[in-house]
Amino acid sequence: MKRVSVLGATGSVGCSTLDLVGRDPDAYRVVALTGGANVALLAEQARRHRAEIAVTAHEAALPELRDRLAGTGIATAAGAEALCDAARRPADWIMSAIVGAAGLPPGLAALEQGTTLALANKESLVAAGPLLMDTARRHGATILPVDSEHSAIFQALVGEDLGAVERIVITASGGAFRDWPLDRLAAATPQEAANHPNWDMGQRITIDSASLFNKALELIETKEFFGVAPRQVEALVHPESLVHALVGFRDGALMAHVGPHDMRHAIGYALNWPERRALPVERLDLAAIGQLTFRTPDEDRYPALRLARRVMEQGGLSGAVFNAAKEAALDAFIAGRIGFLDMARVVETVLDAMARDIDAHRPEKAVIALDTVRQADHLARERAGAAMAALP
Ligand code: NDP
Repeated sequence: MKRVSVLGATGSVGCSTLDLVGRDPDAYRVVALTGGANVALLAEQARRHRAEIAVTAHEAALPELRDRLAGTGIATAAGAEALCDAARRPADWIMSAIVGAAGLPPGLAALEQGTTLALANKESLVAAGPLLMDTARRHGATILPVDSEHSAIFQALVGEDLGAVERIVITASGGAFRDWPLDRLAAATPQEAANHPNWDMGQRITIDSASLFNKALELIETKEFFGVAPRQVEALVHPESLVHALVGFRDGALMAHVGPHDMRHAIGYALNWPERRALPVERLDLAAIGQLTFRTPDEDRYPALRLARRVMEQGGLSGAVFNAAKEAALDAFIAGRIGFLDMARVVETVLDAMARDIDAHRPEKAVIALDTVRQADHLARERAGAAMAALP
């Protein structure tokens, strides 16, 4: 039996993971499940999958979690350190699906036990890519990408030599505002941004898809995970969201991964890897789909892409700063405190303001310690607060 833990079990990716695990109860034993505020769902999942332990990120929610699991024999815990302890519990496969930089410490803790980490939490690669990859190497752990684009690239590279790769293209639906006139974007609301044309995902990633901050994170993630040069990574708007990524080789071949908008494909691939087993996802009827379209993204509409390129070139701490400033700006947008277009302004202001801190941590390949990443994250959130207060 494969021992499985799911960090961020109550979220969109976490629920899809447990959907797959639950379809084959004889194949899996669930070790740890973690969640945040949704204690009712966490307790229900822990009961249904007979987890060893359920952990909430919020200490104040522990009494409720205990009450809900009373008499089941399932252990409970709460808080940031308890999340890392959950990730340290021996398991063969751990899903990292906490949203945001909060996913980094538990992800590192999981890697330290030399396990297989299925990585949906792109923010940890953006904030601390070299640290994450180095931790995996030192502990003999495996990281499998779960972001659909990165799973697609990974699949296109099976049996290939990375040295033969010329370029990697990741696709973007263009998000909720793809076809909006530019002058309407300033007034776009969080509710409008959270309405993705193709994918059903958590609120934060859906809004990040509308601004293309999600694609910006994924460009950086591609560079960090596959170790390619920034100039080899590009994004292409593909409204149908069926081609997830393409890998271009030096002989001119372009290998595309085509699949339905269903995260259970990428999650299932990582769950079954290195085998390919049947998955309960739609089979595409290409004749019915008829056509697939692509276009170059407009950087006036999506300044996040320009900022991603800057971060890829700068390396070092710039990813941690970029991600933290983006998270702070997104919080403020969701709370109605800043406008949709202000998010990119705030992130750029913070990157400018912290240029010296970022420069102090060159060269790019150096592994930066978790404490330094955390300090940069903290400072970037403070600077983002100041930048937002100064907005007109
Ligand atoms: P959701 O918002 O749906 O879920 C996030 C999960 O993280 C929930 O379990 C949530 O708990 C938990 N959580 C939130 N804040 C904290 C915290 N501070 N500490 C610990 N746990 C916390 O996110 P998604 O499932 O959409 O995304 C998860 C990750 O996967 C993200 O990094 C995202 O970018 C990535 N991803 C998601 C895809 C998708 O299709 N959704 C596709 C590709 C990548 P609770 O809900 O109980 O508060």
